Amino acid sequence: TVAVVLFTSDLRLHDHPPLRAALRAADEVVPLFVLDPGIHAAGFDAPNRKAFLADCLNDLDASLRRRGGRLLIRNGPVVREVRSVTAEYRATEVHIAAGVTAYAHHREERLRAGLGGSGVALRVHDAVITAVAPGAVTPSGSDHFAVFTPYFRRWSQESLRKPLAAPRTVRVPDGMRGEPLPDRAKVAGASPGLPAGGESSGRDRFSRWSRSGLSCYADRHDDLAGDATSRLSPYLHFGALSPVELVDRAREHGGPGADAFVRQVCWRDFHHQVLAARPEASTEDYRTRHDRWRKEDDAVEDIAAWRDGRTGYPVVDAAMRQLRHEGWMHNRARLLVASFLTKTLYVDWRIGARHFLDLLVDGDIVNNQLNWQWVAGTGTDTRPHRVLNPLVQAKRFDPDGTYVRRWVAELRDVDGARVHEPWRLPADQRDALDYPEPVIDLADGLARFQHARGRD
Ligand code: FAD
Repeated sequence: TVAVVLFTSDLRLHDHPPLRAALRAADEVVPLFVLDPGIHAAGFDAPNRKAFLADCLNDLDASLRRRGGRLLIRNGPVVREVRSVTAEYRATEVHIAAGVTAYAHHREERLRAGLGGSGVALRVHDAVITAVAPGAVTPSGSDHFAVFTPYFRRWSQESLRKPLAAPRTVRVPDGMRGEPLPDRAKVAGASPGLPAGGESSGRDRFSRWSRSGLSCYADRHDDLAGDATSRLSPYLHFGALSPVELVDRAREHGGPGADAFVRQVCWRDFHHQVLAARPEASTEDYRTRHDRWRKEDDAVEDIAAWRDGRTGYPVVDAAMRQLRHEGWMHNRARLLVASFLTKTLYVDWRIGARHFLDLLVDGDIVNNQLNWQWVAGTGTDTRPHRVLNPLVQAKRFDPDGTYVRRWVAELRDVDGARVHEPWRLPADQRDALDYPEPVIDLADGLARFQHARGRD
């Protein structure tokens, strides 16, 4: 017998319930990945993620080959390709991780309908993409938690499976042949500082970081220059690492750093259960606040300055340039640039979210849209009117300006915390810098936001 494992956002061999189940159920397994043009049509195949995905698929194929198997790549609409593969290899089952986005649910439904009548069973596995499946814990009277802290309390009480080992061997049908693997080198426009993708790189990174960074994570995760977070988000986004395994290993490690890290991984599950219950929140306000956000046409220059890292607020500009260079940004920096765009410049959160999705290697519809909504005050933040002052944030989380000097070349020669306020420098020094004046006075931005929200 033959079973197909359709890989989606779960590009790994360790702790992979669909693969484990398929290996148990059948003599041979077809590990399949479909490059669906729908992803392109939806605008989700930005160069950074495309390049990282290519690494993930090559690494998955290499790991399968070491176990006697290989990865089958097909190009085309996913349902058509799965039907064609099941027919070609006479498979009787298709195993897939349960999805959480509207796109993934729709894919699941279409697969079920597409396979119906062919005698091929679709087996859907929970808690592959998240540690706890969306909907597994709910408050009484609702289908999801709208506030993080009570969710975290309940989530922490769930017993997770013991992470599954990677299989020793994977037997695939003879002569299996598909399309060539995508090649990272052929992806145009990826950020120069993009990390290497794939399960092997992700596992190496986690092992190294859990020896050095995990213990001090609680104290240092907000230190912009220290760059002390795990940087595992792209691996989690593509499922190259299992959230169940990360939580398990962190808990084994123990201590305040591990606790704080597990809490952050829970934020990821939290957003997944919100979006699974409210798929429209990827584009519409989760909580209506009657904002009259400025749109693209009302704020062309401000938006361009923000995107290009030329707002005249050094910490904002540093972060936006890091995003362009690495396809990644520190969480504290994401918070403050998103607050700057939505609350100081009063620009629609969707404009910022789209720019992030164009560049972030971990960019995903769940965490990106819901974090943007959180910052914009239309989401799950219980203090929706708070505004992060970029100067206060800069002095607190980049006290001696190292982060700014790392990314804003024009300010490299300005010492210490003075770098955060170039407009206060002596006139001759200020004039010698090729650095813009602030696009807005912070007090004006705050007044506009408060006035607008007052109409709530
Ligand atoms: P660590 O601090 O090491 O945390 C470990 C893991 O926990 C992360 O890899 C991530 O999977 C998860 N995590 C941490 N914080 C959050 C959070 N607030 N929400 C959800 N999961 C979290 N994260 C994404 O994965 N994709 C996105 O598209 C994304 N967009 C964001 C947009 C905005 C405006 C903001 C404020 C945050 C966004 N985040 C997003 C969340 C967070 O910034 C990143 O997950 C984090 O910076 C990744 O770095 P790390 O792996 O070093 O995190």
